[in-house]
Amino acid sequence: MGALGSFTDFVGNDEAVQNLRTSIAAGRLPHSLILGGPAGAGKYTLAIMLAQALNCERQPREMWSNGQTLASFCGVCDNCVRIAESADLQPLIDAAIAAREEMRETDKKETRVLIQTHPDVLIIPPDPPQLLIKLGQVRRVITGAQRAPSQAPRKVFIFTSSSFMKEAANSLLKVLEEPPDFAHIFLLADNPGELLPTIRSRCGLVRLGAVPAEELEMVLAERRPEWKPNQRSLVARLAQGAVGKALGFDVATYSAARADALVMLRGATLEGEHTALFRMTETYRAGAEGQQKTTAMLGAMSSVLEDVLMLISGTPERLRNVDIRGELEAMAGTIDFAWIERAVRGMDQVRSGMRRNLLRSLSLDAFAEEMAGVRR
Ligand SMILES: [Zn+2]
Repeated sequence: MGALGSFTDFVGNDEAVQNLRTSIAAGRLPHSLILGGPAGAGKYTLAIMLAQALNCERQPREMWSNGQTLASFCGVCDNCVRIAESADLQPLIDAAIAAREEMRETDKKETRVLIQTHPDVLIIPPDPPQLLIKLGQVRRVITGAQRAPSQAPRKVFIFTSSSFMKEAANSLLKVLEEPPDFAHIFLLADNPGELLPTIRSRCGLVRLGAVPAEELEMVLAERRPEWKPNQRSLVARLAQGAVGKALGFDVATYSAARADALVMLRGATLEGEHTALFRMTETYRAGAEGQQKTTAMLGAMSSVLEDVLMLISGTPERLRNVDIRGELEAMAGTIDFAWIERAVRGMDQVRSGMRRNLLRSLSLDAFAEEMAGVRR
């Protein structure tokens, strides 16, 4: 997700966000802070906003109805703008990795992926290929934290993952023990329990929850008005609490993939649907595009079958494909758990066939035939 203009653009977790803003305004934000919560809850977006609020040249303040003062940021001063350039992180990481690939072997080994669009704000993503935070990265944080900031009031270090190599975690302990007054360290963790207890005990902890589907739906109504209401309600559920995922969701591709998955499932569960089934699998060709299409179709099929399982097991409130509920209920009446289990195994075979680079359409046809054969 790109840069957002103010804290009010942040979706969900209002209370946690207000508490953080109050702490910044009062000058008592913990210097070492874990932001915990599931992927998509907005941990990174929030960390960037906190960095902006700490370093905004204008230091705007808002009064909350309960009389508390909330820190804010202007979004247009030089510090705000340059910090916001880190908001869309993945392209920056991709560029850093590509630059490292160009280096000589000896330099490559010494170079760790770090992102810095503002001289006083350093982003530390997990370093590929192992996707762990490494010692070289933590060392940069240690030396960085020893020097006073050059342009902003505070130095901010954002670790985007809590998966550390052992020696990196031990080394991080030293800086967490006594961070200088001007330094703030944010650790983003899907599961804070993964962090060493000695790290956790030195940090404040703020937990973000997944955003409920109903709340996501309201956000989509506002920001994706071109989607139909039943599409918004579908996407809000498929995103499973992840705001960025919901806003960036490709509804058209998912709907097309799911339509094919349904043809396949009908072919397998109803008599006389075979022609449609094989006409459909013929549109899946070999090559990269066909693989992508197959992967999307299998993904949609998984989500449909999971929903059928919810219906069979009596938890219909957890349905995600709510817009085709009638069809799912009909399916739940004709197939059982064992059938779904066989279908899932078949899907795994198609996936591993693709990995081994078999002719794709062949394995999909075989799967379709097998599914038709396993009709109850
Ligand atoms: Zn500003």
